[in-house]
Amino acid sequence: MNKQEKKVVIIGAGIAGLSAGSYLARNGFDVEILEMHDIAGGQCTSWKNGKFTFDGCIHWLIGSAYMNHLWNELGALEDIEIINHDRYSTVHFPDGQTLTFYTDPDKLEAELLRFSPGDKNEIRNFIRTIRKMSKLKMIDPDAAIGEKSFKDLFVLIKFISGFIPHLKWFKISAKEYSEKFSKPELKTAIQNLFAPDFAMLFNLFTFVWLSQGNAGYPVGGSLNFSNNIAANCLKHGAKIRYKSSVKKILVEKSKDADKAAGVELENGSIIKADYVISAADGRTTIDQMLDRKYHHPKLQKAWEILPPFDPLFYISLGINGKLDDPPSVSGSAIVFKEAFDTGGKKVNSVLLHSMAFDETLAPEGKSCLEIMCTTDFDFWNNLKNESSEKYKKEKKHIADKLINIIDRDYFPGFKSKIEKIDIATPTTWVRYTGVYRGAFEGLQMTTDTIKVGMSLPKQLQGLNNFYLCGQWVEPGGGLPPAAFSGKNVAAIITKAEGKKFKA
Ligand SMILES: Cc1cc2nc3c(=O)[nH]c(=O)nc-3n(C[C@H](O)[C@H](O)[C@H](O)COP(=O)(O)OP(=O)(O)OC[C@H]3O[C@@H](n4cnc5c(N)ncnc54)[C@H](O)[C@@H]3O)c2cc1C
Repeated sequence: MNKQEKKVVIIGAGIAGLSAGSYLARNGFDVEILEMHDIAGGQCTSWKNGKFTFDGCIHWLIGSAYMNHLWNELGALEDIEIINHDRYSTVHFPDGQTLTFYTDPDKLEAELLRFSPGDKNEIRNFIRTIRKMSKLKMIDPDAAIGEKSFKDLFVLIKFISGFIPHLKWFKISAKEYSEKFSKPELKTAIQNLFAPDFAMLFNLFTFVWLSQGNAGYPVGGSLNFSNNIAANCLKHGAKIRYKSSVKKILVEKSKDADKAAGVELENGSIIKADYVISAADGRTTIDQMLDRKYHHPKLQKAWEILPPFDPLFYISLGINGKLDDPPSVSGSAIVFKEAFDTGGKKVNSVLLHSMAFDETLAPEGKSCLEIMCTTDFDFWNNLKNESSEKYKKEKKHIADKLINIIDRDYFPGFKSKIEKIDIATPTTWVRYTGVYRGAFEGLQMTTDTIKVGMSLPKQLQGLNNFYLCGQWVEPGGGLPPAAFSGKNVAAIITKAEGKKFKA
């Protein structure tokens, strides 16, 4: 190590940790990323089951076409083909009706009008808003990091003035907005576009990005994408140490403010550092690694008022052949006749997502399929703690019931094609990534986000040389915010060392 290099320890090799590591290494820091798992990527992952590759993450990658400088800087999409689907999802109702959310606004408008002519006015308003938002020249989400020129300021002012008329969509959730439609099935479909409590603004932007081909799917699956970023980190000189679970963050006491000074691993070894970044689960970092001695009131408030995403019951299937279902971003939403118990929680619908469009995931003539729905963390956690036999039996029982309903009422014959089955519950995510209550994507971007802001503090009060990044400090979660927050923290540390930040 060069004597000038300051040492940075990063906890977690998820997308946020890898991003922070890659940017810090290229800015002359001695970087060591500590990852408890034996692979990189965190929640952005896939795994092998026989000859099938089951995927646990990417349905859409915002920034796959333009505003993609971040993915380019991280080498994330090197040698990766992007697929843009013409459908977001198709909703299947129990009475046989279907509604397809196309990514093209003209096709979407025609389909919504066919499905519910009585809702003509609100449908036109919805589509008109997507078209208007599409005209907004977006600012780079990491614009705050770079040096500002007059041109940047002009772009920012133009964006803000164009954005103001759409702010009202931040104040209405998908559930509330659905009430503007009269057809009950359309209400259900709008509520379940993503998460019912999500601010509609996010749903509208999703359609904007999809219509612009800027939220594609990277062929090869999520781990392939994560491995590209991990390779980029190593190329810039960062080290990644696997099977290294961090237990405590070491703190040096001083009169004015305490200072992070390294970490202690579960195996007792100590790693000293000038800076510590946690890109691991936010609550685990504060409650366990720092013994709740430090927090930030704004962060605390955000974690109180913004609910985490519901955890998932997630079935991955290896299929002989493929499902007779056109390719789409999030698959077929199956709406049940009666609410279905996914383990302590009743749901009205599940998503069935054929991954047949990615031929790299399965041998020739076969394909992968995911079935996912929300569930209850405590149910699965308690059951697993009680008895691993009971846990296994129950997850198989629920998966079989779901598969039988889908086979009987929606896709007859698909059950007979199943060759491999793999079932994950919220405890699976906790085991592999340590994520709070198995939440996928971190904090929901509800209408309350406006009270705490879009980007949360990265530092804790009274603790110097320590930073947080990742989905718990970026409401809405997802891959771009995780990567941006890693870059952001790298820029803050670089500047704190009096150096000019290099992307
Ligand atoms: C089913 C599913 C589908 C998704 N689909 C999409 C999508 O289509 N598009 C999108 O943008 N996002 C999607 N997401 C969300 C996205 O995957 C996450 O928001 C993002 O990957 C979070 O990255 P992160 O780095 O903040 O956190 P994580 O991925 O949780 O990374 C944290 C890392 O820290 C490690 N760690 C934890 N504790 C310790 C410790 N004590 N010591 C050492 N290491 C530790 C973990 O093992 C992990 O590697 C999806 C998520 C899921 C689960």
